[in-house]
Amino acid sequence: MKTYRLAVLPGDGIGPEVVEEGMKVLDALTKADSSFQLETASFDWNSEYYLKHNRMMPEDGLLTLKEYDAIFFGAIGDRRVPEHIPIWDLIMPIRKNFHQYVNLRPIKQLPGVQSPIQADGPIDFYVFRENAEGEYSNIGGRLYQETSDELAIQNTVITKKGVQRLARYAFDYAQKNDVKKVVNATKSNAIVHSMRLWDESVKEMAMNYEGIAVEDVYIDALVAHLVQRPESFDVIVASNLFGDILTDLGAALVGGLGVSPSANLNPEGDFPSMFEPIHGSAPDITGKQIANPIAQIWSAALMLEHLGRDDLASVVMNAIEQVIEMRTALTPDMGGNAKTFETGDAIVKQIYHQM
Ligand code: NAD
Ligand code: MN
Repeated sequence: MKTYRLAVLPGDGIGPEVVEEGMKVLDALTKADSSFQLETASFDWNSEYYLKHNRMMPEDGLLTLKEYDAIFFGAIGDRRVPEHIPIWDLIMPIRKNFHQYVNLRPIKQLPGVQSPIQADGPIDFYVFRENAEGEYSNIGGRLYQETSDELAIQNTVITKKGVQRLARYAFDYAQKNDVKKVVNATKSNAIVHSMRLWDESVKEMAMNYEGIAVEDVYIDALVAHLVQRPESFDVIVASNLFGDILTDLGAALVGGLGVSPSANLNPEGDFPSMFEPIHGSAPDITGKQIANPIAQIWSAALMLEHLGRDDLASVVMNAIEQVIEMRTALTPDMGGNAKTFETGDAIVKQIYHQM
């Protein structure tokens, strides 16, 4: 028996609503399989906490989280708090300090999920997004404020090491899964310093992987290709900004944000990894119990894989697929009229069926 220590951060808006369903699923697994046990602690580090304490987490927040095997995160963002605060005072410190440099985002169309486009085959690819540097930097500044000459400079940070550790992870995945071509999202024709280093670093890493080709595709063309022939992609490596945009687009192709998970991975395992849906706190639907919990539950499956329990991850994925195919417990974003908790309950029921 192994007991994993899990830090749970429900966050804001629909975060707590969908995390509750994710926890329901994890609890069901611990009941059905005595070899998998969890010791969980929930942290209320959200916008409400910020309004009370003027910070998103306690000073020793990272030290606290560091002791856990994984972090299960909902979403943050609240109209009462400036947009950049939850991102820069909570999410970014976790991703950067815990070296969660791989943001893994599977874009996979589950059977029975509608896509707004008619693809010529199954849509099933992985985006490996650089998660610790890149365009999402707070280096830069503004000059001549409140004059007509006001200007802003925002620096992008690309390091060879940073790109290569991401690329290595993506190529390892490609090798394991017999993928022969990795698409590199770039814009080195226009962004000549940082993106050229990016491209060169990806290429250099590729030399260690015989039989895997790298295709550089400019980001503007790539978004068009993703709409025109999404079925032709298997593995895409992308910078922080490009990966962010590609995966919201990818999510839209395979059922929307309500079903799209992500993993912020620290491959070395020296710090906890974090699992969260791609979506945000969705203030427009908060409190109505109509948020789709599938993205959060799928994120739990990614966490199980990361913890070495592929068997339990497939139980969860099978349960999700069963519930989608039955169509009776789907939330409005998927064309149903079920409540958030009903989708969660239906998935739990399918889990017990399998175990
Ligand atoms: P959002 O992802 O919260 O919502 C976009 C749209 O998708 C909304 O119409 C919403 O109702 C819908 N949606 C999202 N998740 C859904 C679900 N599970 N089920 C059904 N529908 C769902 O993005 P936004 O509106 O741009 O941002 C809202 C807040 O979330 C902002 O404060 C933003 O900064 C924050 N945000 C946080 C994260 C994060 O926590 N990692 C990510 C993105 C946005
Ligand atoms: Mn995003």
